[in-house]
Amino acid sequence: MDNKTMMQYFEWYLPEDGLFWKRAAAQAESLKENGIDMVWLPPAYKGAAGSKSVGYDVYDTYDLGEFDQKGSVATKYGTKEEYLAAVSALQKQGIEVLADVVLNHMMGADGTETVRVEVDDAADRRKEIGERTITAWTKFEFPGRAGKYSRKTWDVSDFSGTDWDEASKQNGVFCFAGKKWNRETDSENGNYDYLMGADLDTDNPKTVQAVTDWGKWYLDTVHMDGFRLDAVKHISFDFYREWLKAMRAHKGSSFFTVGEYWSKEIGKLTHYLDVTENSLSLFDVPLHFAFLQAATSNGAFDMAGILKGTLTEARPDNSVTFVDNHDTQPGQALVSFIPAWFKPLAYALILLWDKGIPCVFYGDYYGIPHDKIAPVPGLKKLCRIRAAYAYGGQKNYFDDSSIVGFTRSGDAEHPGSGLAVLLSDSAGGEKYMLVSGSFVGETLYDVLHPYRQPVRLDASGGGVFAADGGSVGVWVRRAAYEKLMTEAE
Ligand code: CA
Repeated sequence: MDNKTMMQYFEWYLPEDGLFWKRAAAQAESLKENGIDMVWLPPAYKGAAGSKSVGYDVYDTYDLGEFDQKGSVATKYGTKEEYLAAVSALQKQGIEVLADVVLNHMMGADGTETVRVEVDDAADRRKEIGERTITAWTKFEFPGRAGKYSRKTWDVSDFSGTDWDEASKQNGVFCFAGKKWNRETDSENGNYDYLMGADLDTDNPKTVQAVTDWGKWYLDTVHMDGFRLDAVKHISFDFYREWLKAMRAHKGSSFFTVGEYWSKEIGKLTHYLDVTENSLSLFDVPLHFAFLQAATSNGAFDMAGILKGTLTEARPDNSVTFVDNHDTQPGQALVSFIPAWFKPLAYALILLWDKGIPCVFYGDYYGIPHDKIAPVPGLKKLCRIRAAYAYGGQKNYFDDSSIVGFTRSGDAEHPGSGLAVLLSDSAGGEKYMLVSGSFVGETLYDVLHPYRQPVRLDASGGGVFAADGGSVGVWVRRAAYEKLMTEAE
């Protein structure tokens, strides 16, 4: 089986020029050449901020850039036709498309309602601290769409709460009278059902029916290959289990899905997988934070334990590894951007490792012009190495606090496969690593440092590899090296 590589195909500060879907379509062939098999596209429906919306401020999930709503027909990314064309251009290259699904909240309502609420303690939402009447933005009527595709309009009965009283212009955690926060969500703040906007009431069967109908329409309209689910820790843990069952039954196949459960506590992630019966994968958030710690510890981090407490260690079959995303990049809510020097180390780990599905961040692949951040050097090469050569049994050398590595023995199915990886978070140094008994007498070349002396393997198929301080080396066989060197970065 070939390795799969996923890519998060957007960052927060893409130009607001409506040309993104066209650009994505134009890049499809080059992405495939670089070993990308699966792309996660940004939320494609109209947000409250219209053509400036990244997509998480969901206004109308049926408006994929087709109706004059929130100030424009197109979304930030383009029109519905351009979206569908991008999806089919990617699929034509054999790239699977994951659609971003945001069902926690809605924003930008068309009108208000006067609602009685329970006011909850923001730090512990199980505690009621008062009652009052507020003017809530909960009426969604979509006048620009006028009932096309769905006549469903939304009102306070579809939501559990909000955080803004339009009458008094005050913030608060407001739970609508007669409603409760979802039974089981993340335990942060007592109950983390409420995140932002008008919070969907997934305990209301009519609301659940509405988002299930929408999901089927979305599948039938876009023919995407799977989903990325937003903010799963803020939604009843049993909701997506059932919603995914309905989607898979509708599509007639068990497609790939990854959820965003933003927590570094491994027990919370494994619990969510248990409740959802492993019906999806989760992003390995603990690994992201291990990278951050390693990258900001001036070489004092224990590299031997970098996988301890990660999802990749605990549930490798349900782990999507990543280095950064649109929330961790500079200027965003969960900013925890991995410093540039460590990025090649982190990407070598997730891309060449035998466990987890790695997800490459658009901002690392193309750079982030908004913050003058350059593309990660060598990243496209690492993606190509994963696709062609990262096969066979893995031997781990995580036996030192600063110099760690692993080798892949290669397999018969992938000619020229097999490799060695060595990295150091501090002063650098050497390590003897076995690659494979079938590599006896071969010479391996460091793709990331072409000027460096190659490593000749001994009679056991092992050799002494060296990493400079704060760097990573990736050694491949001669034919692979020559091929990689002729390819443009
Ligand atoms: Ca919620």
